[in-house]
Amino acid sequence: MASKTLASFLQSNLAQLKSQGLYNTIEPMDSPNGPIIYMNGQEFVNLSSNNYLGLATDARMLNAAIQATRKFGVGSGAVRTINGTLSLHVELEHKLARFKHTEAAISYQSGFNCNMAAISAVMGERDAILSDEWNHASIIDGCRLTRSKVIRYSHSDMDDLRRKAKEARESGNYEKIMVITDGVFSMDGDIAKLPDIAEIADSFDLITYVDDAHGTGVLGGGAGTVKHFGLSDRIDFQIGTLSKAIGVIGGYVAGKQDLIDWLKVRSRPFLFSTAATPGAVAACIAAIEIVQGSEELQHRLWEHAAYLQKGLKDLGFSIGRTETPITPCIIGNEETTQKFSSLLYEEGIYAKAIVFPTVAKGAGRVRNMPTAAHTTEMLDRALAAYGKVGRELGLIG
Ligand SMILES: *Cc1c(COP(=O)(O)O)cnc(C)c1O
Repeated sequence: MASKTLASFLQSNLAQLKSQGLYNTIEPMDSPNGPIIYMNGQEFVNLSSNNYLGLATDARMLNAAIQATRKFGVGSGAVRTINGTLSLHVELEHKLARFKHTEAAISYQSGFNCNMAAISAVMGERDAILSDEWNHASIIDGCRLTRSKVIRYSHSDMDDLRRKAKEARESGNYEKIMVITDGVFSMDGDIAKLPDIAEIADSFDLITYVDDAHGTGVLGGGAGTVKHFGLSDRIDFQIGTLSKAIGVIGGYVAGKQDLIDWLKVRSRPFLFSTAATPGAVAACIAAIEIVQGSEELQHRLWEHAAYLQKGLKDLGFSIGRTETPITPCIIGNEETTQKFSSLLYEEGIYAKAIVFPTVAKGAGRVRNMPTAAHTTEMLDRALAAYGKVGRELGLIG
């Protein structure tokens, strides 16, 4: 018989979320996740994907995926360490290491599960982790698996990090101490202060871990935030996702050979979850070749971002402290933010409201993700809608 406790838990909690307006409904698309999408038979300018370079629908990627699928099948058939490792996985890892300027790399099925894998393979209950308070959910969960002492520092506050690193080191309570940060923070678009973090790490002998999900393909000529700062040989763990600018799905760690060798025998998702599919891996290889071969798509991405950011500022909106193509339009009040996003939707613009608890209370924003694949005509449509809705709600003059 089905559990009554579970049924009543689910009913009361779902009802509560719905009554608070916090229950998220998901609308499926009837099209690829490109710059224009279709939902309910309606067309939208899409400003919500992480498909920065437009690679998710690139013909070269499709061909690579189709050819590999014909040759190797749709599934890889086993976990990497039994017999799920294809020559394609090895080729991808070689390419990733070269891309990230490291000795070696290991790939996973997603960025999320990469953080589940990598942190707990190295950190344990006698260790401590210094973690930026705005780090991604997968980092927070990955830290929990370690049973290490997790010490949060204020967002990008280097004085706070230095003080807490010193305290942790001088306490003598911990064997290893790690500092973890996103490379680019996805809600504000600001860049982690990696040169300072590397310097603090040197002073207090910290292991450095940078999750560059939003920096790869975007900064450092494509190689990401670590390369952008010229720190490729000073960051121990360079984490990336293959699901954002790379346009497919997967995650990876790039670093020293010994680290990668260790992760291959000790990281649990690598040992206990089936290897990524041949089509996905082949498409990732094609994407890295495209990104390394030319900076054209990156230039287009930055051009479109600058255009959208200038347009929003000229209209009188605040875009906060972004330093990357991530373009928040800061509204403030949670209800107004939700209302703003739904009025944009009525104007054919798909841009998601992001409110507490994802960001601080009173810091609601509509987040825009311009891509290389947008055109200025599409961005003009978005800006016209922003102007109209902003005036309607009395947010701009
Ligand atoms: C998106 C994101 C992830 C998750 O990556 P997936 O490949 O989508 O699982 C992990 N870390 C950060 C910082 C991210 O922004």
